[in-house]
Amino acid sequence: MSTPIGTPVVFLGAGPGDPELITLKGRRLLDEADVIVYAGSLVNPALLDKVQAEIHDSAGMTLDEVLSVLIATSQAGKKAVRLHTGDPAIYGAIREQMQRLDAKDIPYEVVPGVSSALAAAAALQAELTVPEVTQTVIFTRQAGRTPVPEQESLRKLAAIQASMCIFLSVSMMATVVGELTAGGYPKDTPIAVVEKASWPDQQIVQGTLADIADKIKASAIRKTAMIVVGRALSDDPTAVSKLYDASFSHEYRSRST
Ligand code: SAH
Repeated sequence: MSTPIGTPVVFLGAGPGDPELITLKGRRLLDEADVIVYAGSLVNPALLDKVQAEIHDSAGMTLDEVLSVLIATSQAGKKAVRLHTGDPAIYGAIREQMQRLDAKDIPYEVVPGVSSALAAAAALQAELTVPEVTQTVIFTRQAGRTPVPEQESLRKLAAIQASMCIFLSVSMMATVVGELTAGGYPKDTPIAVVEKASWPDQQIVQGTLADIADKIKASAIRKTAMIVVGRALSDDPTAVSKLYDASFSHEYRSRST
C-alpha cells in the first residue's frame, strides 16, 4: 500500500442542531477549514456563521461531486471538512466516502458528534438504561426505501424489550407501531417522538403504543424526528418488574407450602 498523500480530510459530527452541541475540536476544525461540505438539510447553518471556508451544501450534490471537492482540497494541501449531522458513524454514509478516499490514497480522520438519539433522550430527560428495566439501547430504523435485514426488523428487535431509538422512520409511524406491538411491546409501553431535538423549534409528542400513531398524524411532524420507545421512559419504569417479582415470590411461596 502506498503512503497516503495530501492534507487529511475530516469527517466531522456537527451534533443534533444546537450550535453549542458540537465538540471543541469540531468547532476548531470548522474555524480552521478551507473548504466545508455540509449536509444542508439537517446541519444547522448557524454552525457556519463566522467561518472563513468556502462552503458547499451537499444536498444538491452527487457523491462524485462531493468526493471531487474533498479530494481536490486535500491534494492542494488545504483543509477539507465533511460536516455530518449528529455523529457521522450513525446513518452518515461515510463508509462509501472513505472508500473513495482510500482508492485515491487520501488520508482522513473522523471526529465524533452528539447523535440526535442522545439529544432526544436529553430533551425527554430520560435515562435509557434504567437498572432492572433494561441495560440495552438499540439504534435502528424501520425499513423503507433502504431495506433492513430481516433478522433485525423492528418486530424481531421488539422481542428484546430494550430502549430503542428509531431513526428515519417518523413518516411510517403506523407501521412502526404495528411492528413494535407485533414484536411484543405491550400496548401501554411509553413512546415519544422528538422533532428537531436541540433546535429552537424542538417539539415533543409523548404517548403509548396505543395512541402515538394518531397523535403524530394529528401533529405537523413528518421528518427530522427521533422515535424513542421502551419502559425506561415510564414515570415508574420498575413498576412492572416489581409486580413480576411479587407474583414470582408469591407463586414460589405457595408452591413451597
Ligand atoms: N448521524 C445522525 C443521523 C442521520 S440520519 C445522528 O447521529 O443523529 C437522519 C435521521 O436522524 C432523521 O431522519 C432523524 O430520525 C434523525 N435526526 C437527525 N437530527 C435530528 C434532530 N435534531 N432531532 C431528532 N431527530 C433527528
